[in-house]
Amino acid sequence: MQLKFKGLVALSILTLIALIGIQGYLIHNTYELKKKTYTIDARNAIAKVYNSATVDSIMWLYRTDFLHNLEAYQEGNLNEQDLILKLQHKTAQINPAFVQLFNEGLANEKESYDVKIKKVLTSLTLTDSLGNTKEIYNAAVQDTILLLGEDFQNKDGLLINNSTWQDEQTPVKLNFQSSIFMNISDWDSIMLKELSGLLILSSLLFLFVVSLLYYSIRNLLKQKRLAEIKTDFINNITHELKTPLSTLALATKTLTNEHANGNKEIADGAVKIIDRQNARLQKLIDQVMQSSLGYQQIQLSKEDFNGSVFLNEILDDYMLSIPTSEISLNRNIESTGLPISADKFYLSTAIINLLNNAIKYGGTKLKVDYGVDKTDSTHYISVKDNGIGISPKYQKFIFEKFYRVSEKDTHNYKGLGLGLYYTKQIIIAHGGSISVKSEASKGSVFTIKIPVS
Ligand code: ADP
Repeated sequence: MQLKFKGLVALSILTLIALIGIQGYLIHNTYELKKKTYTIDARNAIAKVYNSATVDSIMWLYRTDFLHNLEAYQEGNLNEQDLILKLQHKTAQINPAFVQLFNEGLANEKESYDVKIKKVLTSLTLTDSLGNTKEIYNAAVQDTILLLGEDFQNKDGLLINNSTWQDEQTPVKLNFQSSIFMNISDWDSIMLKELSGLLILSSLLFLFVVSLLYYSIRNLLKQKRLAEIKTDFINNITHELKTPLSTLALATKTLTNEHANGNKEIADGAVKIIDRQNARLQKLIDQVMQSSLGYQQIQLSKEDFNGSVFLNEILDDYMLSIPTSEISLNRNIESTGLPISADKFYLSTAIINLLNNAIKYGGTKLKVDYGVDKTDSTHYISVKDNGIGISPKYQKFIFEKFYRVSEKDTHNYKGLGLGLYYTKQIIIAHGGSISVKSEASKGSVFTIKIPVS
């Protein structure tokens, strides 16, 4: 059962992890797809603007200038470096107009774009009529030369086009190669906006599934504990009933025995046993009956009385009723001057329950404290013992109906797990509270608090 339950929980958690994995994978795929679509869209828009007549005419400004300089270079009036420098100078001159035209064109295409482009020189070679090729520039080995557009790192850009400009009319053949890169600067926020619906929906779905799983496991655990408590209760009550019943059977047998006929002593003894066992059975039944009472059903008849007198009386009577002299009681009972407003019968039942438990669970030195706690305006009554104590993990359950600490050695103590439940109901009916402080094998302190009226 335990193994099956753990397996079920593990399986549910694994399924949840698998679901998260699949969802993550799907979101990632959607992200990639959106990115691709967006890139294609942007690329098309750029191509449209870039190939427009106005942008093309701007480009011819530097080309014409370059051809002019090329002539000077061939005539020996310019060296290679100057040729490049003049090219850079001219492109820098026309670049602002280019950027403005480009951005305006792009804004007409689609408003949401924040796309930058740049055109860089990739290589520049000249081939003379004899077929000798001279490399004037090579981007692979020299610094990048920005021709047009806005500058950004190559690694942040996406190459969208390589273009070649060849001019056969010049005495030397020109091979002018350039590349166009695009850069979408607010990529992350665009994608976030695009995917926000999907992300919110999947987060909500995820939260829903996790809470569903959490509640199912919690309910399952609750049901399991309830089933265990009920089984324990049935075992306990059967065990509790067995002893008086077998003693009763024995006593009636003695009475009906011929030997007892006429023997007053034996008959009286048997009747006394029957009487005691009857009282014991009655007490058990009373306990079970009481357990059906919640604090709402407890009808209190309250009166105002002196707490210290009341407690001293209870403790005197209680100590007289204990058959053994091995139990010692230390009293620290204050005369508070403030009356307790409570039902004497119920309150004494609650205190006697605590005293009984203190002795039942190994206490030999008991201490009862009474006073008024000014911080929360309550009468406090605490019962301390030096018994077996309760380890912290069980403390929050001991006031529940039928709950008994199920450690091996505690099974030796008889009980139905109803005493503390009933005590708590009585105290709640008075508008008070009950708490425990305890350490295993050191002892426990139960404290009742009743508000000062
Ligand atoms: P019962 O005594 O019939 O088992 P209770 O409701 O009175 O039922 O107590 C619930 C559980 O709390 C007990 O089974 C016991 O393990 C623990 N308990 C109660 N009082 C004490 C105490 N004074 N010392 C140690 N354990 C205690």
